[in-house]
Amino acid sequence: MATSSSDYRVAVIGAGVVGLAAACRLANARANVVLIDPMEPGLGCSYGNAGHIATELIFPLASPATLAHAPRYLLNSDSPLSVRGGYALQILPWLTRFALASRPSAFKRGTEALAELQAGALESLRNLLRTLGLEQQLQTRGHIVLAETRASQAALLNEQESLAEYDVPTTWLSAAEVAELAPDLTTNLQGALHFPGSGHVLEPYQLSQGFFAAFQEAGGQYLRGGVRKIATRSDGSFELQVEAKPITSEKIVLAAGAWSKSLARDLGHRLPLDTERGYHLSAPGWSGSFNVPIASYERKTIMTPLSSGLRITGFVEFGGLDLPPAASRFGKLETHIRALLPNAEFPEFKRWMGFRPSMPDHLPVIGASPKNPNAILAFGHQHLGLTLAGITADIVECLVANRRPPINIQPFRCDRF
Ligand SMILES: Cc1cc2nc3c(=O)[nH]c(=O)nc-3n(C[C@H](O)[C@H](O)[C@H](O)COP(=O)(O)OP(=O)(O)OC[C@H]3O[C@@H](n4cnc5c(N)ncnc54)[C@H](O)[C@@H]3O)c2cc1C
Repeated sequence: MATSSSDYRVAVIGAGVVGLAAACRLANARANVVLIDPMEPGLGCSYGNAGHIATELIFPLASPATLAHAPRYLLNSDSPLSVRGGYALQILPWLTRFALASRPSAFKRGTEALAELQAGALESLRNLLRTLGLEQQLQTRGHIVLAETRASQAALLNEQESLAEYDVPTTWLSAAEVAELAPDLTTNLQGALHFPGSGHVLEPYQLSQGFFAAFQEAGGQYLRGGVRKIATRSDGSFELQVEAKPITSEKIVLAAGAWSKSLARDLGHRLPLDTERGYHLSAPGWSGSFNVPIASYERKTIMTPLSSGLRITGFVEFGGLDLPPAASRFGKLETHIRALLPNAEFPEFKRWMGFRPSMPDHLPVIGASPKNPNAILAFGHQHLGLTLAGITADIVECLVANRRPPINIQPFRCDRF
């Protein structure tokens, strides 16, 4: 059992949206919490995401359909899914597990697990934001996915049927209805699928800053520095090497996103965590007509009207944590945004690349370490870290307090591979 000789009751490692949300829940529950990050909070992957509360994404990317298209995609460096030349060998074991997780039976299990996690995601996020006085960040007007060709329309109508099996509401909009919703969009459209149950946030980085301010107001402490090593003490508590400074904590929450792999190894877990790099262009000063995220089925991009401007995001690129961004991706995003909004003026584009933390089966890791229940793991949220931040925080709070989580978290165990 842990003793009371620790500096902190809980140390949250990583101040991305997942760590921040969990830290806020824990600080609100009056635990003695420290949040540790080498950067200012919110500057990791959580900085530049699309801001979409994508509760409709219940099908893991590891799917029979992705597998069928993968060879064509992976060999084309311009496609939405690609491997950087210098990283092909390193990513091979991950891709092999991805292929195994894409088998129909594994895909079905993954879908059921993700659908259960997603079922409470929006409500959990809303509750957390309300508790912290940040509810104005959450916009719940849904989003649309455009079909520019008949083939995309057919694919989206198929998806509509599959989603109905999981009670995800959708409606088909004609091209005229889309034009009414977003008059400045291209008219070269077949229509769009409307998802009324999704949402977006006003600005992802602002949200992180709001979380951080609320955390500090609730008495949480922040330590700037990277955790270099986690050592387990004989009583099951931890000594963390934060740069050169050792601190002790009864419990830890490992939420360092794509950087969690080596720290999990300190806890005795060898995990197939890698990163799917994604890109954005942000257009500050954009003043367009629409106020919901608009995705394009064929372009695999999404545009979100944020308070910082219009943002277009896209690409899944396997290239690890060290290679620089590929400049051609920004050019491609610019081509997409100009094609979708042919008459829009963009005074400036800001460029960004971030590291989605992804497990090969496209499910996050959420749960206590099977080796030591005082270590709680919360990473690997792939394309859904913002969406799942609230429900993850609820689960983490239960685990820290030795309470039963609100849903079955067995599918998210770290030792499932
Ligand atoms: C282009 C793009 C678009 C996206 N769009 C969406 C979207 O619309 N909706 C959605 O839900 N999700 C989206 N995502 C995914 C989402 O952004 C991520 O899942 C989420 O940000 C992951 O959050 P995190 O807190 O786990 O990781 P991060 O935000 O990366 O935070 C991890 C933190 O850990 C810190 N850290 C690293 N090493 C250490 C260490 N040794 N010690 C202490 N701290 C450490 C880092 O500095 C960082 O601050 C998108 C991602 C991309 C790339």
